This record gives sequence, C-alpha cells and structure tokens, in this order.
Amino acid sequence: MFISILSGAFVFASDLIRAFRGDCEIGFVKLSSYSGTRSTGSIQTVMGLEKDLSGRHVIVVEDIVDTGRTLHYFIAQLQQQSPASICTVTFLRKPQAARFSVQVDHVGFDIDDQFVVGYGLDYEGLGRNLPGVYQLPEQ
Ligand code: 5GP
Repeated sequence: MFISILSGAFVFASDLIRAFRGDCEIGFVKLSSYSGTRSTGSIQTVMGLEKDLSGRHVIVVEDIVDTGRTLHYFIAQLQQQSPASICTVTFLRKPQAARFSVQVDHVGFDIDDQFVVGYGLDYEGLGRNLPGVYQLPEQ
C-alpha cells in the first residue's frame, strides 16, 4: 500500500508507482505545515486515509524531507494502525535542515537547505507543473 503525502508528492508518487512491478494500492493523505517558504511549526491533517492499514505493508511517499516534522508526525500516526511494515521514500531531503529524527529508507536526492519548486513542489500554489526542480531566488 503506497501512501502519498499530498499535495507535493503526487508527481513523484505517480512516477514511482508506474515503475513498481507488482500489485499495489495507493492512497493519499493531506498534511500541511508550510505557509509560503516557511514551516509553521504545527501540522494539520487536512485529509485523512480511509483504508484500514493493519497488517499491510505500507510505503510512505514524501516529496521533500526538510525538518522531518511531517514524516515524524505521520509515522507516529501510522504506527497506531499496526501496519505489517512501514517503508519511507522521499524524492528530496535537506540534511542540513533535519530537526526530527525520522527513518527515511530511500532518498532520491539530498539537496542544500534552500526552497525549491517544481515536480510537484509549489510556491504558494504555483510551480507544481514545472518538469524540473528549481531553487527560488533569495528574497
Ligand atoms: P518538514 O515537515 O520535513 O519540515 O517539511 C516537509 C514539507 O514541507 C514537505 O512535504 C513540503 O510540503 C514542504 N517543504 C519543505 N521544504 C520545501 C521546499 O523547499 N519547497 C517546497 N515547495 N516545499 C517544501
């Protein structure tokens, strides 16, 4: 069972599941901690998952791990549902920004601690459709 964290991971998740050879399902959760280019420090579950995950092998698909707060929060929520296993995958990770200890099993690319857009990642709603990943100019 793939679980994609919306909104940013939807592009990566769609490429990832099409490269996966095997039977799988995909579900989506929407968590929000960012406003503009800053993390607000608190996470809201805007849309939850309706599937029962007990006994399921779960692969969590994240767009970018920054402080690690989102993944840390979500893994704690998942564990309450007793899945058979939890694997975490992220397209990008900012190692210099890490503040929460979180298990990330597969990382696409480690990047510097800079705000990026494209390939699903937005700046105030825009830029998700850019096929590449771009750093915003300093503000
Ligand atoms: P964390 O909870 O790890 O601090 O932040 C993770 C979430 O913050 C990501 O899922 C993403 O929505 C957002 N985020 C963190 N860094 C960036 C970035 O450089 N660009 C964009 N567009 N979103 C980011």
